[in-house]
Amino acid sequence: DYAVGGFYPVMIGDLFHERYYVLCKLGWGTFSTVWLCWDLIGKRYVALKIVKSNYIDTKSAQHEIKNLRCVGKRKKIVQLLDDFKVTGVNGTHICIVFEVLGHSILKFIRPKVGIPLPIVKTIIRQVLEGLDELHTKCGIVHTDIKPENILVCVDDLFVQKLAANAWKCHRTGMKLAGSLVSSFPQNLQSSSENTNVNQKKVEEMTHLLLSQLQHLESAVSHPSSSDSLVDSLPDSVNKVCSSDLVVKIVDLGSACCSELISNCSGTIQTRPYRCLESLICAEYGPPVDIWSTACMAFELATGDYLFFPEAGDHYSKDEDHLALITELLGEIPKDIWTSGKMTHLYFTETGGFRNIKTLEQWGLCEVLIEKYRWLPREARDFAEFLHSLLAFDPKQRATASECLLHPWLTGA
Ligand code: ATP
Ligand code: MG
Ligand code: MG
Repeated sequence: DYAVGGFYPVMIGDLFHERYYVLCKLGWGTFSTVWLCWDLIGKRYVALKIVKSNYIDTKSAQHEIKNLRCVGKRKKIVQLLDDFKVTGVNGTHICIVFEVLGHSILKFIRPKVGIPLPIVKTIIRQVLEGLDELHTKCGIVHTDIKPENILVCVDDLFVQKLAANAWKCHRTGMKLAGSLVSSFPQNLQSSSENTNVNQKKVEEMTHLLLSQLQHLESAVSHPSSSDSLVDSLPDSVNKVCSSDLVVKIVDLGSACCSELISNCSGTIQTRPYRCLESLICAEYGPPVDIWSTACMAFELATGDYLFFPEAGDHYSKDEDHLALITELLGEIPKDIWTSGKMTHLYFTETGGFRNIKTLEQWGLCEVLIEKYRWLPREARDFAEFLHSLLAFDPKQRATASECLLHPWLTGA
Protein backbone atom coordinates (compact mmCIF):
# COMPACT_ATOMS: atom_id res chain seq x y z
CA ASP A 1 0.00 0.00 0.00
CA TYR A 2 3.00 2.31 0.48
CA ALA A 3 3.69 2.42 -3.26
CA VAL A 4 2.73 4.67 -6.17
CA GLY A 5 -1.06 5.14 -5.98
CA GLY A 6 -1.05 4.08 -2.31
CA PHE A 7 -0.60 5.78 1.08
CA TYR A 8 1.53 8.88 1.68
CA PRO A 9 4.50 7.89 3.87
CA VAL A 10 3.80 10.23 6.79
CA MET A 11 6.51 10.86 9.43
CA ILE A 12 5.93 12.19 12.93
CA GLY A 13 7.00 15.83 12.76
CA ASP A 14 5.93 16.32 9.14
CA LEU A 15 4.36 19.66 8.42
CA PHE A 16 1.46 19.74 5.95
CA HIS A 17 -0.03 22.74 4.17
CA GLU A 18 2.35 24.95 6.17
CA ARG A 19 0.22 24.53 9.27
CA TYR A 20 -0.57 20.93 10.29
CA TYR A 21 2.17 19.40 12.39
CA VAL A 22 1.92 15.59 12.66
CA LEU A 23 1.99 14.15 16.20
CA CYS A 24 0.72 10.58 15.95
CA LYS A 25 -1.44 8.14 14.05
CA LEU A 26 -5.11 8.05 15.01
CA GLY A 27 -6.28 5.29 12.73
CA TRP A 28 -6.44 4.00 9.20
CA GLY A 29 -8.95 2.63 6.75
CA THR A 30 -8.91 0.98 3.35
CA PHE A 31 -8.31 4.29 1.60
CA SER A 32 -6.44 6.47 4.03
CA THR A 33 -4.35 7.01 7.15
CA VAL A 34 -5.54 9.47 9.79
CA TRP A 35 -3.16 11.58 11.95
CA LEU A 36 -3.41 13.75 15.04
CA CYS A 37 -1.90 17.14 14.17
CA TRP A 38 -1.40 20.45 15.87
CA ASP A 39 -2.76 23.27 13.71
CA LEU A 40 -0.19 26.08 13.95
CA ILE A 41 -2.60 28.67 12.63
CA GLY A 42 -5.87 27.57 14.25
CA LYS A 43 -3.97 26.71 17.47
CA ARG A 44 -5.93 23.53 18.02
CA TYR A 45 -5.60 19.79 17.50
CA VAL A 46 -7.08 18.36 14.31
CA ALA A 47 -7.41 14.95 12.63
CA LEU A 48 -5.77 14.83 9.19
CA LYS A 49 -7.01 12.14 6.79
CA ILE A 50 -4.53 11.56 3.95
CA VAL A 51 -6.09 9.54 1.17
CA LYS A 52 -4.32 7.12 -1.19
CA SER A 53 -3.22 8.78 -4.41
CA ASN A 54 -4.80 6.50 -7.02
CA TYR A 55 -7.57 7.77 -9.29
CA ILE A 56 -10.49 5.95 -7.65
CA ASP A 57 -9.60 6.88 -4.06
CA THR A 58 -8.95 10.48 -5.12
CA LYS A 59 -12.42 10.62 -6.73
CA SER A 60 -13.96 9.11 -3.61
CA ALA A 61 -12.16 11.65 -1.39
CA GLN A 62 -13.38 14.53 -3.56
CA HIS A 63 -16.82 13.04 -3.19
CA GLU A 64 -16.38 12.87 0.60
CA ILE A 65 -15.40 16.55 0.70
CA LYS A 66 -18.40 17.50 -1.44
CA ASN A 67 -20.70 15.57 0.89
CA LEU A 68 -19.13 17.05 4.02
CA ARG A 69 -19.50 20.57 2.64
CA CYS A 70 -23.12 19.85 1.88
CA VAL A 71 -23.64 18.54 5.43
CA GLY A 72 -21.95 21.56 7.06
CA LYS A 73 -21.87 21.77 10.82
CA ARG A 74 -24.11 19.14 12.42
CA LYS A 75 -24.25 17.80 15.95
CA LYS A 76 -23.93 14.12 15.07
CA ILE A 77 -21.69 14.22 11.98
CA VAL A 78 -17.93 14.75 12.09
CA GLN A 79 -17.01 18.31 11.19
CA LEU A 80 -14.93 19.16 8.13
CA LEU A 81 -12.40 21.92 8.87
CA ASP A 82 -10.22 22.15 5.76
CA ASP A 83 -9.00 20.27 2.71
CA PHE A 84 -5.95 20.46 0.45
CA LYS A 85 -3.65 18.33 -1.71
CA VAL A 86 -0.13 17.15 -1.06
CA THR A 87 2.31 15.61 -3.53
CA GLY A 88 4.78 12.98 -2.33
CA VAL A 89 6.75 10.03 -3.66
CA ASN A 90 3.56 8.01 -4.23
CA GLY A 91 1.65 10.72 -6.11
CA THR A 92 -0.81 13.48 -5.24
CA HIS A 93 -3.04 12.85 -2.22
CA ILE A 94 -6.22 14.54 -1.10
CA CYS A 95 -6.05 15.58 2.56
CA ILE A 96 -9.15 16.20 4.67
CA VAL A 97 -8.95 17.97 8.02
CA PHE A 98 -11.51 17.09 10.70
CA GLU A 99 -12.23 17.81 14.34
CA VAL A 100 -10.49 15.18 16.53
CA LEU A 101 -12.60 12.26 17.74
CA GLY A 102 -11.70 9.17 19.77
CA HIS A 103 -12.10 5.43 19.32
CA SER A 104 -14.69 3.87 17.09
CA ILE A 105 -17.40 2.04 19.03
CA LEU A 106 -16.14 -1.23 17.56
CA LYS A 107 -13.43 -1.03 20.19
CA PHE A 108 -15.98 -1.46 22.98
CA ILE A 109 -17.91 -4.45 21.70
CA ARG A 110 -16.94 -7.46 23.79
CA PRO A 111 -17.18 -10.56 21.58
CA LYS A 112 -20.30 -12.61 22.41
CA VAL A 113 -21.22 -10.09 25.13
CA GLY A 114 -21.59 -6.69 23.49
CA ILE A 115 -22.13 -3.42 25.38
CA PRO A 116 -24.61 -2.78 28.24
CA LEU A 117 -28.08 -2.12 26.84
CA PRO A 118 -28.52 1.47 28.13
CA ILE A 119 -25.29 2.40 26.30
CA VAL A 120 -26.44 0.62 23.14
CA LYS A 121 -29.57 2.77 23.26
CA THR A 122 -27.54 5.96 23.79
CA ILE A 123 -25.41 5.14 20.75
CA ILE A 124 -28.25 4.04 18.47
CA ARG A 125 -30.32 7.10 19.39
CA GLN A 126 -27.48 9.43 18.36
CA VAL A 127 -26.77 7.52 15.15
CA LEU A 128 -30.45 7.84 14.23
CA GLU A 129 -30.38 11.56 15.03
CA GLY A 130 -27.40 11.90 12.70
CA LEU A 131 -29.12 9.86 10.00
CA ASP A 132 -32.33 11.86 10.34
CA GLU A 133 -30.35 15.03 9.59
CA LEU A 134 -28.41 13.40 6.75
CA HIS A 135 -31.56 12.00 5.15
CA THR A 136 -34.03 14.82 5.61
CA LYS A 137 -31.93 18.00 5.85
CA CYS A 138 -28.95 17.13 3.62
CA GLY A 139 -30.52 14.66 1.17
CA ILE A 140 -27.61 12.27 1.71
CA VAL A 141 -27.52 8.48 2.19
CA HIS A 142 -24.41 7.36 4.12
CA THR A 143 -24.32 3.76 2.74
CA ASP A 144 -21.58 2.60 5.14
CA ILE A 145 -23.10 2.65 8.62
CA LYS A 146 -21.10 0.21 10.79
CA PRO A 147 -19.37 0.34 14.20
CA GLU A 148 -16.00 1.43 12.68
CA ASN A 149 -17.66 4.56 11.34
CA ILE A 150 -19.19 5.69 14.63
CA LEU A 151 -16.60 7.51 16.73
CA VAL A 152 -16.73 8.65 20.32
CA CYS A 153 -16.33 12.37 21.03
CA VAL A 154 -13.43 13.23 23.32
CA ASP A 155 -12.73 16.28 25.42
CA ASP A 156 -9.71 18.59 25.14
CA LEU A 157 -7.94 16.93 28.05
CA PHE A 158 -8.09 13.57 26.33
CA VAL A 159 -6.58 15.01 23.15
CA GLN A 160 -3.90 16.85 25.14
CA LYS A 161 -2.93 13.61 26.87
CA LEU A 162 -2.84 11.85 23.55
CA ALA A 163 -0.61 14.54 22.08
CA ALA A 164 1.64 14.50 25.14
CA ASN A 165 1.90 10.74 24.96
CA ALA A 166 2.77 10.94 21.29
CA TRP A 167 5.39 13.54 22.01
CA LYS A 168 6.86 11.39 24.75
CA CYS A 169 7.02 8.43 22.38
CA HIS A 170 8.63 10.55 19.71
CA ARG A 171 11.16 11.89 22.19
CA THR A 172 12.00 8.37 23.34
CA GLY A 173 12.47 7.35 19.74
CA MET A 174 14.71 10.31 19.08
CA LYS A 175 16.76 9.56 22.17
CA LEU A 176 17.13 5.99 21.04
CA ALA A 177 18.27 7.26 17.70
CA GLY A 178 20.97 9.21 19.49
CA SER A 179 19.48 12.65 19.07
CA LEU A 180 18.29 14.67 22.02
CA VAL A 181 14.88 16.13 22.32
CA SER A 182 16.44 19.57 22.44
CA SER A 183 17.36 19.19 18.81
CA PHE A 184 13.69 19.03 17.90
CA PRO A 185 13.03 22.77 17.57
CA GLN A 186 16.01 23.10 15.25
CA ASN A 187 14.79 20.17 13.19
CA LEU A 188 11.47 21.82 12.86
CA GLN A 189 13.07 25.17 12.06
CA SER A 190 15.07 23.69 9.24
CA SER A 191 12.07 21.95 7.72
CA SER A 192 10.02 25.09 8.12
CA GLU A 193 12.57 27.18 6.22
CA ASN A 194 11.46 25.45 3.06
CA THR A 195 7.85 25.98 3.75
CA ASN A 196 8.13 29.56 5.03
CA VAL A 197 6.31 28.86 8.22
CA ASN A 198 6.39 31.68 10.66
CA GLN A 199 9.15 30.68 13.05
CA LYS A 200 7.42 32.24 15.99
CA LYS A 201 4.46 29.93 15.48
CA VAL A 202 6.71 26.91 15.44
CA GLU A 203 8.32 27.98 18.70
CA GLU A 204 4.94 28.59 20.24
CA MET A 205 3.85 25.11 19.32
CA THR A 206 6.96 23.47 20.66
CA HIS A 207 6.58 25.39 23.88
CA LEU A 208 2.93 24.42 24.17
CA LEU A 209 3.58 20.71 23.62
CA LEU A 210 6.45 20.67 26.04
CA SER A 211 4.50 22.44 28.74
CA GLN A 212 1.53 20.12 28.21
CA LEU A 213 3.86 17.19 28.49
CA GLN A 214 5.25 18.45 31.78
CA HIS A 215 1.77 18.89 33.23
CA LEU A 216 0.51 15.58 32.04
CA GLU A 217 3.56 13.38 32.34
CA SER A 218 2.37 11.75 35.52
CA ALA A 219 -1.09 11.08 34.13
CA VAL A 220 0.12 9.46 30.96
CA SER A 221 0.70 5.75 30.77
CA HIS A 222 3.78 4.17 29.31
CA PRO A 223 3.40 4.27 25.54
CA SER A 224 2.34 0.93 24.15
CA SER A 225 3.85 -0.55 21.03
CA SER A 226 0.49 -0.21 19.35
CA ASP A 227 0.30 1.51 16.01
CA SER A 228 -2.41 3.81 17.22
CA LEU A 229 -1.58 5.88 20.29
CA VAL A 230 -5.21 6.23 21.28
CA ASP A 231 -4.85 2.71 22.66
CA SER A 232 -2.21 3.81 25.13
CA LEU A 233 -4.63 5.89 27.16
CA PRO A 234 -6.21 3.74 29.85
CA ASP A 235 -9.14 6.00 30.58
CA SER A 236 -10.39 5.97 26.99
CA VAL A 237 -12.12 2.64 27.43
CA ASN A 238 -13.82 3.65 30.67
CA LYS A 239 -15.04 6.80 29.05
CA VAL A 240 -17.36 4.98 26.69
CA CYS A 241 -19.10 3.30 29.59
CA SER A 242 -20.42 6.56 30.95
CA SER A 243 -23.98 7.56 30.15
CA ASP A 244 -22.91 11.00 28.89
CA LEU A 245 -21.30 9.34 25.99
CA VAL A 246 -21.46 11.32 22.75
CA VAL A 247 -20.81 9.77 19.34
CA LYS A 248 -20.59 11.06 15.77
CA ILE A 249 -20.90 9.50 12.34
CA VAL A 250 -17.74 9.63 10.18
CA ASP A 251 -16.60 8.48 6.74
CA LEU A 252 -18.85 10.03 4.12
CA GLY A 253 -16.62 8.63 1.37
CA SER A 254 -19.28 6.29 0.03
CA ALA A 255 -22.26 8.54 0.71
CA CYS A 256 -24.57 9.50 -2.12
CA CYS A 257 -27.31 11.95 -2.90
CA SER A 258 -30.66 10.45 -1.90
CA GLU A 259 -32.37 11.92 -4.97
CA LEU A 260 -30.17 9.93 -7.30
CA ILE A 261 -31.73 6.67 -6.19
CA SER A 262 -29.59 4.10 -7.87
CA ASN A 263 -30.64 0.96 -9.61
CA CYS A 264 -27.65 -1.25 -9.02
CA SER A 265 -24.70 0.95 -9.85
CA GLY A 266 -22.18 -1.14 -7.94
CA THR A 267 -22.10 -2.69 -4.50
CA ILE A 268 -22.89 -0.51 -1.52
CA GLN A 269 -22.39 -1.14 2.22
CA THR A 270 -19.99 -3.38 4.11
CA ARG A 271 -21.10 -7.03 3.89
CA PRO A 272 -22.68 -7.78 7.31
CA TYR A 273 -24.60 -4.46 7.20
CA ARG A 274 -25.78 -4.81 3.57
CA CYS A 275 -29.54 -4.48 3.13
CA LEU A 276 -31.94 -6.64 1.16
CA GLU A 277 -32.48 -4.17 -1.71
CA SER A 278 -28.74 -3.84 -2.19
CA LEU A 279 -28.29 -7.65 -2.24
CA ILE A 280 -30.90 -8.18 -4.94
CA CYS A 281 -29.94 -5.00 -6.83
CA ALA A 282 -33.21 -3.15 -6.46
CA GLU A 283 -33.59 0.62 -6.17
CA TYR A 284 -32.24 2.04 -2.94
CA GLY A 285 -32.32 5.20 -0.88
CA PRO A 286 -32.16 6.36 2.78
CA PRO A 287 -33.70 3.09 4.13
CA VAL A 288 -30.39 1.29 3.43
CA ASP A 289 -28.87 3.15 6.40
CA ILE A 290 -31.74 2.07 8.65
CA TRP A 291 -31.13 -1.62 7.83
CA SER A 292 -27.43 -1.18 8.69
CA THR A 293 -28.36 0.56 11.94
CA ALA A 294 -30.44 -2.49 12.94
CA CYS A 295 -27.52 -4.82 12.17
CA MET A 296 -25.25 -2.59 14.23
CA ALA A 297 -27.72 -2.38 17.16
CA PHE A 298 -27.88 -6.18 17.32
CA GLU A 299 -24.09 -6.41 17.22
CA LEU A 300 -23.68 -3.84 20.01
CA ALA A 301 -26.26 -5.62 22.15
CA THR A 302 -24.99 -9.20 21.68
CA GLY A 303 -21.37 -9.00 20.52
CA ASP A 304 -22.26 -11.06 17.42
CA TYR A 305 -22.99 -10.09 13.82
CA LEU A 306 -26.68 -10.22 12.93
CA PHE A 307 -25.81 -11.64 9.51
CA PHE A 308 -22.45 -13.15 8.69
CA PRO A 309 -22.84 -14.95 5.36
CA GLU A 310 -20.29 -17.33 3.90
CA ALA A 311 -20.06 -18.92 0.48
CA GLY A 312 -20.46 -22.71 0.28
CA ASP A 313 -19.39 -25.25 -2.35
CA HIS A 314 -22.65 -24.80 -4.24
CA TYR A 315 -23.84 -21.33 -3.31
CA SER A 316 -22.52 -17.76 -3.24
CA LYS A 317 -22.11 -15.44 -0.28
CA ASP A 318 -25.05 -13.38 -1.56
CA GLU A 319 -27.35 -16.42 -1.66
CA ASP A 320 -26.25 -17.39 1.86
CA HIS A 321 -26.94 -13.81 3.00
CA LEU A 322 -30.46 -13.95 1.56
CA ALA A 323 -31.01 -17.36 3.18
CA LEU A 324 -29.89 -16.04 6.59
CA ILE A 325 -32.30 -13.12 6.21
CA THR A 326 -35.13 -15.55 5.38
CA GLU A 327 -34.33 -17.81 8.35
CA LEU A 328 -34.42 -14.87 10.75
CA LEU A 329 -37.14 -12.65 9.31
CA GLY A 330 -39.34 -15.01 7.29
CA GLU A 331 -39.99 -15.56 3.61
CA ILE A 332 -39.20 -12.65 1.30
CA PRO A 333 -42.45 -11.73 -0.54
CA LYS A 334 -42.52 -12.23 -4.30
CA ASP A 335 -43.08 -8.55 -5.15
CA ILE A 336 -39.89 -7.75 -3.23
CA TRP A 337 -37.60 -10.38 -4.71
CA THR A 338 -38.88 -9.77 -8.24
CA SER A 339 -37.99 -6.06 -7.89
CA GLY A 340 -34.26 -6.86 -7.98
CA LYS A 341 -32.16 -7.23 -11.09
CA MET A 342 -30.09 -10.09 -9.68
CA THR A 343 -32.96 -12.19 -8.36
CA HIS A 344 -32.67 -14.92 -11.03
CA LEU A 345 -29.22 -15.78 -9.65
CA TYR A 346 -30.60 -16.80 -6.25
CA PHE A 347 -34.30 -17.60 -6.61
CA THR A 348 -36.18 -20.14 -8.72
CA GLU A 349 -39.42 -19.19 -10.54
CA THR A 350 -41.41 -20.29 -7.49
CA GLY A 351 -39.38 -18.25 -5.04
CA GLY A 352 -37.27 -21.02 -3.51
CA PHE A 353 -33.51 -20.64 -3.28
CA ARG A 354 -31.62 -22.00 -6.27
CA ASN A 355 -28.82 -23.74 -4.43
CA ILE A 356 -29.68 -23.73 -0.72
CA LYS A 357 -32.26 -26.40 -0.05
CA THR A 358 -32.69 -26.50 3.71
CA LEU A 359 -33.58 -23.48 5.82
CA GLU A 360 -34.08 -23.39 9.57
CA GLN A 361 -36.50 -20.73 10.74
CA TRP A 362 -35.26 -19.14 13.98
CA GLY A 363 -36.97 -15.82 14.70
CA LEU A 364 -35.21 -12.81 16.19
CA CYS A 365 -37.04 -12.90 19.51
CA GLU A 366 -36.36 -16.64 19.98
CA VAL A 367 -32.70 -16.15 19.05
CA LEU A 368 -32.36 -13.49 21.76
CA ILE A 369 -34.01 -15.71 24.37
CA GLU A 370 -32.56 -19.09 23.42
CA LYS A 371 -29.08 -18.17 22.22
CA TYR A 372 -28.32 -15.01 24.20
CA ARG A 373 -30.41 -15.83 27.29
CA TRP A 374 -32.30 -12.52 27.29
CA LEU A 375 -35.37 -12.12 29.44
CA PRO A 376 -38.48 -12.68 27.29
CA ARG A 377 -39.74 -9.15 27.77
CA GLU A 378 -36.43 -7.48 26.90
CA ALA A 379 -36.07 -9.80 23.91
CA ARG A 380 -39.57 -9.02 22.66
CA ASP A 381 -39.10 -5.23 22.95
CA PHE A 382 -35.73 -5.27 21.17
CA ALA A 383 -36.93 -7.69 18.46
CA GLU A 384 -39.95 -5.49 17.84
CA PHE A 385 -37.72 -2.45 17.41
CA LEU A 386 -35.36 -4.30 15.07
CA HIS A 387 -38.23 -5.68 12.97
CA SER A 388 -39.38 -2.15 12.13
CA LEU A 389 -35.84 -1.31 10.92
CA LEU A 390 -35.55 -4.55 8.94
CA ALA A 391 -38.79 -4.37 6.96
CA PHE A 392 -38.23 -6.07 3.59
CA ASP A 393 -39.97 -3.29 1.68
CA PRO A 394 -37.81 -0.13 2.01
CA LYS A 395 -41.01 1.96 1.81
CA GLN A 396 -42.39 0.16 4.85
CA ARG A 397 -39.15 0.43 6.82
CA ALA A 398 -39.21 2.97 9.65
CA THR A 399 -37.50 6.28 8.84
CA ALA A 400 -34.84 7.60 11.22
CA SER A 401 -37.30 10.00 12.84
CA GLU A 402 -39.87 7.23 13.26
CA CYS A 403 -37.24 4.97 14.85
CA LEU A 404 -36.47 7.72 17.35
CA LEU A 405 -40.09 7.63 18.53
CA HIS A 406 -40.04 3.86 19.12
CA PRO A 407 -40.71 2.83 22.74
CA TRP A 408 -37.47 0.81 22.82
CA LEU A 409 -35.61 4.13 22.56
CA THR A 410 -38.02 6.48 24.31
CA GLY A 411 -38.60 4.07 27.18
CA ALA A 412 -42.34 4.73 26.96
P1 ATP B 1 -12.90 2.83 5.35
O1 ATP B 1 -12.07 1.64 5.03
O2 ATP B 1 -13.74 2.58 6.58
O3 ATP B 1 -13.71 3.41 4.23
P2 ATP B 1 -11.35 5.30 5.24
O4 ATP B 1 -10.01 5.08 4.62
O5 ATP B 1 -12.41 5.98 4.42
O6 ATP B 1 -11.87 3.93 5.84
P3 ATP B 1 -12.04 6.63 7.75
O7 ATP B 1 -13.03 5.56 8.07
O8 ATP B 1 -12.58 7.98 7.48
O9 ATP B 1 -11.08 6.15 6.55
O10 ATP B 1 -10.95 6.73 8.92
C1 ATP B 1 -10.16 5.62 9.26
C2 ATP B 1 -10.00 5.53 10.76
O11 ATP B 1 -9.28 6.70 11.23
C3 ATP B 1 -11.30 5.53 11.54
O12 ATP B 1 -11.85 4.23 11.67
C4 ATP B 1 -10.83 6.10 12.88
O13 ATP B 1 -10.17 5.11 13.66
C5 ATP B 1 -9.78 7.13 12.47
N1 ATP B 1 -10.40 8.47 12.31
C6 ATP B 1 -11.06 8.93 11.23
N2 ATP B 1 -11.51 10.19 11.43
C7 ATP B 1 -11.12 10.53 12.67
C8 ATP B 1 -11.27 11.71 13.49
N3 ATP B 1 -11.92 12.79 13.06
N4 ATP B 1 -10.73 11.69 14.72
C9 ATP B 1 -10.07 10.60 15.18
N5 ATP B 1 -9.88 9.47 14.48
C10 ATP B 1 -10.39 9.42 13.24
MG1 MG C 1 -14.20 4.01 7.80
MG1 MG D 1 -14.36 5.33 3.87
